[in-house]
Amino acid sequence: MWEYISVRAENALSIKQVMSLAMFMLGFFHLCLMIFFGCFKIYPMAVIDFCSVVLYGVCLIQIQRDKSLLFLFNLSYLQIVLHSVVAALLLGTDSGFSLYMIAVLPIGFFAAYNFNMRKQVINPMCYVIISCVAFCFLRLMSSYMGPFYSYGNKAVDSAIYMVNYFVAVITIVIFISTLLNQIKILENLRVFQNKQLEKLSKTDALTGLANRRSIEERYTQSEALQEGYSLVIGDIDDFKTVNDTYGHNVGDTVLKAVAEVFKGTVRSEDIVCRWGGEEFLIFLPKCTHNDAANIAQRILESVRATEMHTAEGSVFHITMTLGVATERKGMEFAEVVKEADDKLYKGKHNGKNQVV
Ligand code: GH3
Ligand code: MG
Ligand code: MG
Repeated sequence: MWEYISVRAENALSIKQVMSLAMFMLGFFHLCLMIFFGCFKIYPMAVIDFCSVVLYGVCLIQIQRDKSLLFLFNLSYLQIVLHSVVAALLLGTDSGFSLYMIAVLPIGFFAAYNFNMRKQVINPMCYVIISCVAFCFLRLMSSYMGPFYSYGNKAVDSAIYMVNYFVAVITIVIFISTLLNQIKILENLRVFQNKQLEKLSKTDALTGLANRRSIEERYTQSEALQEGYSLVIGDIDDFKTVNDTYGHNVGDTVLKAVAEVFKGTVRSEDIVCRWGGEEFLIFLPKCTHNDAANIAQRILESVRATEMHTAEGSVFHITMTLGVATERKGMEFAEVVKEADDKLYKGKHNGKNQVV
């Protein structure tokens, strides 16, 4: 409870949970009032509180049955208003029951946040106006007629006023903290979703590799740092035949397997990206041409050695052709890509299955 009141809770309570809790607490509070008024022989109030306990009991059951939450919410709001008006009229405004008209002021904002539906827009000011009118009505009436009942003891008067004051304060605190919790949790969800979206926007869905966008970010950073880089572009040989022979699903599995080979071969600072359909690009920052060529050679051998499986379970192998290029002073990223691409196509012309 303290976690929620101090806005430190990690999980949001659902509106159903919040209302169940509220109905239970209201029912319990009115049960205490019923016993209290019974003891002081203020029977009309005891009867009203008995009816209130029954009402909250019924509401609690209806909430569990998923009946209209907004209707039950408004019903309990009306009960609070009527109870305060009657109690303040019978016991005088100094009894503190009119304070609930102030305590329920945030109720409309809570309702507007939780119950606003497309067709049914809730204006929180309706609740504010009803509460204010009820409060003014009470003040007006109290100047014309005195209280009908008294506890007959000044100490009890003060104690009841203080109890009402604290319950009113707690009500306000609960409304505000529940709203803040909901907003905070929504904010956390938004941050999480943004991170997921950012991750998705930089990832290729099939292989889980980076896509072109993340490579572009990385080379901009590399150019700013003037750290130099090499590129390896690899293209699966005769992939169309793989698709035509074994089917598109097996083709997809081959792409995933090749992606795993690339991921397993590069250094942690390198970025492997799915450059096109069956083309892969590795961005190798601070990597010499020789080192890049060695990495490309290792990939070529690993891809050759990887067993691919058909839908029937038989094994086949594929090969790749890879082109390596290293950035030289003044070269644009597109120029390095073109050089690696040209080498790749040179390899394709020279019989494929090689590093150029
Ligand atoms: P080469 O050796 O000259 O590279 O021949 P290739 O058949 O590999 O090249 P081509 O460009 O003719 O064919 C590439 C094929 O890759 C065609 C396309 O259907 C397939 N492809 C592209 N993206 C995907 C994908 O996501 N999944 C599958 N299964 N196939 C894909
Ligand atoms: Mg190909
Ligand atoms: Mg291709």
